[in-house]
Amino acid sequence: MGECNYYNYFVGEKLRSMTDPTPQYDVLVAGGGNAALCAAITARRAGASVLVLESAPKDFRGGNSRHTRDIRYMHKAATEYVTHAYGEEEFWQDLLGVTGGATNEGLARLIIRESEDLADWMAKNGVRWQKPLRGTLHLARSNLFMLGGGKAMMNAYYETAKKLGVQVHYGTEVRELTISDGEFVSALSVSAGVSRLIETKAIVVAAGGFEANIAWLKEYWGEAADNFVIRGTPYNQGTLLKKLLNNGAKPVGDPRGCHAVALDARAPKFDGGIVTRLDSVPFGIVVNKKAQRFYDEGEDFWPKRYAIWGKLIAEQPDQIAYSIIDSEALPHFMPSVFPPVEAASIPELATALGIEPRTLGAVVDEFNRSVNGGRFNPGTLDDCRTEGLEPQKSHWARPIEVPPFYGYPLRAGITFTYLGVTVDERAQVIMGNERPAKNIFAAGEMMAGNILGKGYLAGFGLTIGSVFGRIAGREAARRAGF
Ligand SMILES: Cc1cc2nc3c(=O)[nH]c(=O)nc-3n(C[C@H](O)[C@H](O)[C@H](O)COP(=O)(O)OP(=O)(O)OC[C@H]3O[C@@H](n4cnc5c(N)ncnc54)[C@H](O)[C@@H]3O)c2cc1C
Repeated sequence: MGECNYYNYFVGEKLRSMTDPTPQYDVLVAGGGNAALCAAITARRAGASVLVLESAPKDFRGGNSRHTRDIRYMHKAATEYVTHAYGEEEFWQDLLGVTGGATNEGLARLIIRESEDLADWMAKNGVRWQKPLRGTLHLARSNLFMLGGGKAMMNAYYETAKKLGVQVHYGTEVRELTISDGEFVSALSVSAGVSRLIETKAIVVAAGGFEANIAWLKEYWGEAADNFVIRGTPYNQGTLLKKLLNNGAKPVGDPRGCHAVALDARAPKFDGGIVTRLDSVPFGIVVNKKAQRFYDEGEDFWPKRYAIWGKLIAEQPDQIAYSIIDSEALPHFMPSVFPPVEAASIPELATALGIEPRTLGAVVDEFNRSVNGGRFNPGTLDDCRTEGLEPQKSHWARPIEVPPFYGYPLRAGITFTYLGVTVDERAQVIMGNERPAKNIFAAGEMMAGNILGKGYLAGFGLTIGSVFGRIAGREAARRAGF
């Protein structure tokens, strides 16, 4: 083992460098979330020795995955935890609906089919289930809820990995990849000022998207990105996505594409998790800072539409919007962790929120007049809609008239980005010459753009990462001779 000192000009850090040319592990897994651990466990079970490098410290391990609650999976019958069957065709049609066809059907169907045994696989690796709670019932037939959420799931996976003998180094960022002629040669990791060269037979890159890298987001969103709130881990900087792309990996996905929700504007800049999401949108109206509505709040069921609202808010002046509801709406959605702004009248509410009272009053009056008086049912695509209003509200339109009135300030909450690397059905990264990289595999957010050209289905992020994590682990182990 050699040791020398050098200066890393990229980060302005003085690093001590350690090189160890003897491969100590068969497979390197870069990342420490769901996709990474699914890969690590699978590769280890296949017989390979596995090293996981997680840039977050142990207490914050598990990336965005630790914020999750549920996973969508194909199943042939109801169980104790899901209410009905959810077959391949229905799953596929749901995906087709939200992506508008902007998906790779081969990979998408592979994920759907291979999701069928996920419930058993996850349980075998320590995950426990719970029945869906109030406010999540739309997902009761298609999605499984983890007992204790994503944090408990990640703890279970780390425990399983430890028992199997997977080595995990926390607080260790992979900064550089050496790739020669489509073949992974080595990775440079940095931990507490010490850099280390790691050579393995194969690498699984499962290091998330670039959603926490505001400077990178600005390349596509301009200054607006300063007003985005990042719902998950600050460690998903996209370092390895950039390294792969710079080394000739074929990009996939719209650089502006992302899963982005309506988030309480009072949320912390990073890692606020699930409790800052606002699900009030379908039960009232949403206006921008000019007190104008800008999209159909009742277009479809919330699980199929919530992920477009972040982008809609991002396109408004100063990237801010306001959800306006009355007291009748309050029981119908999961509240955010912050209490709503409350007022006895709409003009008072407007003043409290900092928007023009007379304009908001007029907008609410016009909305109330256009409501057709159908039969309200939050469990179906009901016939409560507006007539002659632009934009229309297609479902769940009821007059906003019963005080007190409530408002939530909304920001674009970025969950994860869709720009990624192209992969094949073996999770191999495809290079610019259309040939798969020999020993480089990708899973999770880094390749989600292959399937999510746009839109999102609740619980599908984990499905993509779990299925492709397992495939990547299996194939990396195979590449390493197992
Ligand atoms: C608040 C919130 C709620 C969500 N709820 C759900 C849900 O209920 N169901 C669902 O399916 N999806 C949900 N998602 C989306 C889901 O979290 C992701 O799709 C999925 O977890 C991504 O898994 P991943 O392993 O690709 O990324 P992550 O879990 O984010 O893991 C990436 C890992 O890579 C590490 N890393 C990054 N760069 C480096 C580097 N250079 N070197 C080493 N390590 C690095 C990070 O520290 C992190 O551990 C939610 C997301 C958020 C933010």
